[in-house]
Amino acid sequence: MAIGFRIDTDDEKAFRAEVREWLDANLPDDLRGLSTRPPFDRSQVWFHMLAERGWIAPHWPKTHGGMDATINQQIILREELANVGAPEISSQGLNHIGPILMEFGTDAQKQQHLPHILAGTVNWCQGYSEPNSGSDLASLRTRADRDGDTLVVNGQKIWTTWAHHSDWIFALVRTDQDAPRKQAGISFLLIDLTTPGIVIRPIKTIAGDDEFAEVFFENVSVPMSNLIGNINDGWRIANSLLAHERLNTASPTHVINALDRVKKVATASGLMDDAGFRDRLAQAELDAVGLAALYSHAVGITASGRPLGPDSSIMKIYSTEILQRTVDLLFEAAGSEAASSGRIDTDDGSVDVATLLLQVRRATIYGGSSEIQRNILAKRVLGLPS
Ligand SMILES: Cc1cc2nc3c(=O)[nH]c(=O)nc-3n(C[C@H](O)[C@H](O)[C@H](O)COP(=O)(O)OP(=O)(O)OC[C@H]3O[C@@H](n4cnc5c(N)ncnc54)[C@H](O)[C@@H]3O)c2cc1C
Repeated sequence: MAIGFRIDTDDEKAFRAEVREWLDANLPDDLRGLSTRPPFDRSQVWFHMLAERGWIAPHWPKTHGGMDATINQQIILREELANVGAPEISSQGLNHIGPILMEFGTDAQKQQHLPHILAGTVNWCQGYSEPNSGSDLASLRTRADRDGDTLVVNGQKIWTTWAHHSDWIFALVRTDQDAPRKQAGISFLLIDLTTPGIVIRPIKTIAGDDEFAEVFFENVSVPMSNLIGNINDGWRIANSLLAHERLNTASPTHVINALDRVKKVATASGLMDDAGFRDRLAQAELDAVGLAALYSHAVGITASGRPLGPDSSIMKIYSTEILQRTVDLLFEAAGSEAASSGRIDTDDGSVDVATLLLQVRRATIYGGSSEIQRNILAKRVLGLPS
């Protein structure tokens, strides 16, 4: 289904055709149209195939081995990956710590880490959230105390996506217990997960996948050279990363995928013949077009080097709430079959409805919940008192 806001130029049409043809020929069948992430090893196979094709890092500059793709090429790639139902890959390195290293890292840090991120030989996870420090992230308590040339880390992270499949973690740690503002005592630290004193315990989600883990640190010794930026300047760096994260979450690809499933299932169940349902489907499609327009505008802003600011909160709210509404429509389309935990057969393959319904509940939580995004907008855009 073509949901988009831009009209491809001739070169872009050729690029789209090239991507489509390659995906059709190369994406393994067992990795198409999944509701949850594939098992890590399978996901890595797909990562390496995209890396070999040179399409793993469209947004990275050529100097660091990326594609230096135009905004439209980036969007085309995302759309075509969504259209063919390509699976999620490990993206914390490519989308989060990679760009942070390029912006704030030393030359030695860039040389050590960027090539491995690009090749998918070292996987990263994000250690921000802690028990009791999620929305109020600045209250985090994992501490790192100076001991000569090292920092000694003690504490716990939670909801760490794919920590149990990762080699390194980028973590926020408290390095000044007495800072006048809690934000001012936080540093941004890279930690090798094989360092003694680290224990990782996976957590299974309600959708049945092994998305998260808890990560415990007991007297973990980390070289000072693994600090990103200056000591106690981690909050600024963390926030720049959150804007990247919210923008990535807001990609319309998940909604495009969900709409495709709604149509297949509604055709199979006969609900497509219902005029009221078709009205709601048309509204969902219009929402998706609106989201595609907003997303392409936001990608353009970041590509020109300007900060997204509170726009990233608007994108996060809009995209995740549209996604949940679209999946609610999928649930409606499935009728009495909806609660089945199995897949629903359609003329165009089988569709897993129940897992997706559970899976998308998380979208309004990660990367900062919808309530927190609304608080940001109330304060920074509307100027309301806190
Ligand atoms: C799928 C998924 C993947 C994740 N991956 C990672 C990861 O890789 N690394 C990582 O560090 N974290 C990760 N997280 C954690 C995520 O960042 C937190 O769950 C999120 O920030 C919310 O924090 P919390 O869970 O502690 O909820 P809480 O902060 O306890 O919030 C509970 C509820 O209260 C509401 N609330 C809280 N404060 C306010 C307020 N001031 N005003 C109004 N409402 C409020 C929230 O909106 C929410 O509904 C992930 C979460 C999910 C769901």
